[in-house]
Amino acid sequence: MNIDELYQTIILDHYREKHHSGLREPYDAEVHHVNPSCGDELTLRVALDGDTVRDVSYEGVGCSISQASTSVMTDLVIGRGVEDAMGLYDDFLEMMHSKGEIAPDEDRFEDAIAFAGVSKFPARVKCALLSWSALRDAVNQTSTKDS
Ligand code: ZN
Repeated sequence: MNIDELYQTIILDHYREKHHSGLREPYDAEVHHVNPSCGDELTLRVALDGDTVRDVSYEGVGCSISQASTSVMTDLVIGRGVEDAMGLYDDFLEMMHSKGEIAPDEDRFEDAIAFAGVSKFPARVKCALLSWSALRDAVNQTSTKDS
């Protein structure tokens, strides 16, 4: 199996069996994000426990990349510190805008390495980033609420 096939398999596995899907309560913030260029839609809820991401739940429609990316993102951030999760988003963003130039760090990104392949296709980058920008938006809303 070559690397592109591996990436495709990871994405299809998450698309077929999405992790942590569904909307759950309680939650601290809910956002709705759309990616008009592809038609992807995502409602995402985040629940924090102090500085830790306790849960991310969601309901989405759209292409396999946007759906799989949401599933992978929840695997990565649930149970992680908020600041650490946002740092991971920054690194993911950098990789996605690198047009395939930045090789993903497998220990850090886990299944999100699969989107390194997507970064070569600018039209699909927004699909892969939809869930992450929704997460950041939701996290930002919780901090405004507290202050
Ligand atoms: Zn899409």
